[in-house]
Amino acid sequence: MPAFIDSHCHLADPAFDADRDDAIARAREAGAVALVCIGESPAMARRARDVAAQHPGLVWHTAGVHPHDAATFDPLRDVAALRDEAANGAVALGECGLDYHYDHSPRDQQRRAFAAQLALASELRLPVVVHSREAADDTAAMVREAGAAGVVGVMHCFGGPPALAETAIDAGWFISFAGVITFKKWSNDALLRIPPADRLLVESDAPYLSPVPHRGKRNEPAFVCHTVTRLAEARGLSAERLGAVVTENARRCFNLPVPPSM
Ligand SMILES: [Zn+2]
Repeated sequence: MPAFIDSHCHLADPAFDADRDDAIARAREAGAVALVCIGESPAMARRARDVAAQHPGLVWHTAGVHPHDAATFDPLRDVAALRDEAANGAVALGECGLDYHYDHSPRDQQRRAFAAQLALASELRLPVVVHSREAADDTAAMVREAGAAGVVGVMHCFGGPPALAETAIDAGWFISFAGVITFKKWSNDALLRIPPADRLLVESDAPYLSPVPHRGKRNEPAFVCHTVTRLAEARGLSAERLGAVVTENARRCFNLPVPPSM
């Protein structure tokens, strides 16, 4: 059974209200060394902080403003909230980024909220967790600039294009793959081989995007083991070896105080 760190799960989501502790226990039984619980808004970050506090040494939290909510981003109020989370153990800012598929917020406001979080990450020396959908060019430009300012981060639930992976890797960033890579319709194993071994991460994005063989059910961090197996197959490694690689990378990316896996 491979070890792993789930670099991106929404454990504070109400979808886990009935069995959160059981889901965390199942993740540990399935090989999870750590879980990074995403706070996609200041309110969810506060909940994620509580989940982390209830599972010290296993769950850590992040704090950000999702691009969907960028229209209501208030630089004073929200940056203060994110600073407060950082002072209370948040290991990263995000998720933040750009989503031009749904366009729930105007694009200029998405860029403004994302830029503010990248600037805060630079100041606080925290990594950022980035969501990018159909916004590759603008994301690449902002990642490149942030990388030049010393910011590192994660391209979460990465699905391409390859050029965005290459920009992120050049900037020193990590690429995280989710359960999508187990889907029957997935046909892009070349993408899975782009990141160098020291930049690879895996994630559940739970409660969304359950991997095969759990499609159609609520996702949970324990199911990351299927993504590890699939990614290992695409890269010609054993699942155990790939699990050790992604565990070590997540530990480094988020500065998690767990023992080195390699
Ligand atoms: Zn997410």
